[in-house]
Amino acid sequence: MHTDEELAEAIFPEVTETVADLERRYPRRNLPQGAEVTRFAPSPTGFLHTSSLFTALVAYTVAKRTQGVYFFRLEDTNQKREVAGTGDQLVDQLAWFGIKQDEGYMGDGRPEQGSYGPYVQSQRKAIYDAVIKEMVRRGRAYPCFCTKEDLDELRKVQEANKVVPGYYGNYARCRTRTVAEDLKLIKAGTPFVIRFRSQGDHNRFFAVKDLVRGTLSLPENDQDIVIRKSDGLPTYHFAHLCDDHFMGTTVVTRGEEWLSSLPIHIELFKAMDWEAPKYAHLPVIMVNDPETGNRRKLSKRKDREAAVSFFIREGYPKDGLLKYLMTISNSNFEEWLRQNPRTPILSFPFSFAKMSREGALFDLPKLTDISQNVLA
Ligand code: GLU
Repeated sequence: MHTDEELAEAIFPEVTETVADLERRYPRRNLPQGAEVTRFAPSPTGFLHTSSLFTALVAYTVAKRTQGVYFFRLEDTNQKREVAGTGDQLVDQLAWFGIKQDEGYMGDGRPEQGSYGPYVQSQRKAIYDAVIKEMVRRGRAYPCFCTKEDLDELRKVQEANKVVPGYYGNYARCRTRTVAEDLKLIKAGTPFVIRFRSQGDHNRFFAVKDLVRGTLSLPENDQDIVIRKSDGLPTYHFAHLCDDHFMGTTVVTRGEEWLSSLPIHIELFKAMDWEAPKYAHLPVIMVNDPETGNRRKLSKRKDREAAVSFFIREGYPKDGLLKYLMTISNSNFEEWLRQNPRTPILSFPFSFAKMSREGALFDLPKLTDISQNVLA
């Protein structure tokens, strides 16, 4: 009988580095107790969005207030969506606001800082492959040879059966193929992606703590998600697992749109026997749509306030925008600001527990008011 070990070798004959080697290369960080390691991890797909500035500000504040580390990682695994030069712009614009990374990607042509790199995901392929190889060995990942047509067909069947869509359980047809069959297909040069083998069940719930939202009860993941795409690069989910593990991130601050992926991430960490970081899913910034009057997310396409460059162009002082974003971050910030108008904002006792759980409504008059005070 063929083993998962043979399958791992057949898929990754050139990968000799092991997870143990990687653990040695990226040792646990030696930081004082309570120090948090946070990161800002944008995709280089466009301008600095106001919500991203907010996310970066929170990550930076948490690291600085705890004498921790704040780093910048460029998430460029979706190369079709990449817009050249935007990674550098993001670094420069954040630096203009004083949000400077302690380590990570520092912009094009500047050397990376820190010993947990490379900090650009497209340069980390060898790391991802070493971890995927280990997952295949453990029987927790497998090659999937389904074509686009196969997946379209699957979607139709699931629609007709009125079941949860996706690649899972009995619908995951490459999941049950024997290693001998996999080896034959690989040898024949059949193209494949690699999927995670989930052990979850979406009818079961588990408890997970979010720093903003408290303890949540979420359905387990049961999707055999793709972890390695046909171009050899990892998906976001898998890169998050490897990068935040080896880079020693202790708190992941990211937009609440990622909350629905949390069960996948928790299961991935479990599959590797790694401790998951703490998570803080931040509220999105909302606006009242001028046409419909309904609340909706601040939109790149519709709202000029979505681009940080708008405020810069209009002459808003940077401190005004940062202070305004802090009012969104913590409900007691405004009162603190009234009492401490000249104190640097890092002195404010920021806390995740004081963060609003609902999306915060963008309030231009309030921003203008705060900015006028800053200028005065
Ligand atoms: N690249 C992801 C994004 O831009 C990062 C999310 C995260 O911080 O984990 O949304």
